[in-house]
Amino acid sequence: MSEIVAIDITHHQLPLEPPFPASWDPQPRTRFPVTVVRVRDSEGREGVGSGDVMYGFQDYAKWFIGTDPLDLSSHAARLANIEFHAGRPWPLDIALWDLAGKIQGRPVWQMLGGTDPRLRLYASSAVHRPVAQMVTVVRQMLDEGFGAFKVRFGRPSIDDDLAVVAAIRDELGDALTLMVDCNQGWRMPWDTAQPWDVERAWVVAQRLSAEAVFWMEEPLHRGDYAGMAELRRRVATIGSMRIAGGEMTREPYEFRELLQRGCLDVFQPDCVCTGGISGLAPLARDVSAAGMVFTPHTWGNGIGVMANLHLAAGTVGHEGSLWVEWPYDPPEWGLDRRDYALTSPLHAVGGWIELGSEPGLGARLDEQMLARTASERATFQ
Ligand SMILES: [Mg+2]
Repeated sequence: MSEIVAIDITHHQLPLEPPFPASWDPQPRTRFPVTVVRVRDSEGREGVGSGDVMYGFQDYAKWFIGTDPLDLSSHAARLANIEFHAGRPWPLDIALWDLAGKIQGRPVWQMLGGTDPRLRLYASSAVHRPVAQMVTVVRQMLDEGFGAFKVRFGRPSIDDDLAVVAAIRDELGDALTLMVDCNQGWRMPWDTAQPWDVERAWVVAQRLSAEAVFWMEEPLHRGDYAGMAELRRRVATIGSMRIAGGEMTREPYEFRELLQRGCLDVFQPDCVCTGGISGLAPLARDVSAAGMVFTPHTWGNGIGVMANLHLAAGTVGHEGSLWVEWPYDPPEWGLDRRDYALTSPLHAVGGWIELGSEPGLGARLDEQMLARTASERATFQ
């Protein structure tokens, strides 16, 4: 048995010139922060994870040093306690799964019991472009083989948001599956806008349902369980549009509550922010067994995208996840930026991705790039 000998956490910031105007952030982003967590064992192997900033985590590192890296359930239990007392520590869970895969010589998707390493992707946009440009972007995505595209709401007027959906449908018909993200579930720290209430969400939902939108994402605050259940009930009376949400919801038990109360059709936790792979794998299976869709939020850097892809492929597969988020909106959000921590960007072909057979996550870090972008902090400006 090897033992854990070190946990290292480093921060990196890629300067963004031109800045990245993410639709869910009132401040254009001039830096893309990445935090890398590395866990090493006594045999010299290293697992990597990424996601939250892990500020203050080193106070807890000693509870992992000297333990068996393969005791993943004990590690997850400690991390759940730390999550309660401090910040979100889940990048370490990702790194531990990567290390465990390297020790066992198996990819994470296989360790989780998966049998098919392929996932179908949707192009997840980020930038509010003029209507005509939005149509052009969607056309490009279709040409690249993506069968689904997610539009971001949040323009100054809801009519401007709805005009984008209408224009895409007018120009492209039902050539692609369309999702809409209302981004009402949470806010950046400096954004004081109030979330929608159920009546406002219902007005929008009727318009989206009429445009045959596949899912309406985060129409309400993440804690508005009664509102989500009511909206979902109403939406089911007018069509087949699904209600999606939960990308930053903090703990797995909250998702079980959302499931029990009939709040969502599509569950979108992100394993680098919530529960790690250890906490979300059983949740994914439960969501799928209940007949709902489990498809993780993946917005972040390439390491986090990989972790969530392994989680989805290893648990519910492409039949259960239907479409998995591929953060991609060039030029402002191209793979060169998203995957800068990796030696080469992840590779989607024809709107699908196939995870390899490399042990662990198969993430190869660009150490020179990480050295060049090393930083004391992990902030967006
Ligand atoms: Mg979202």
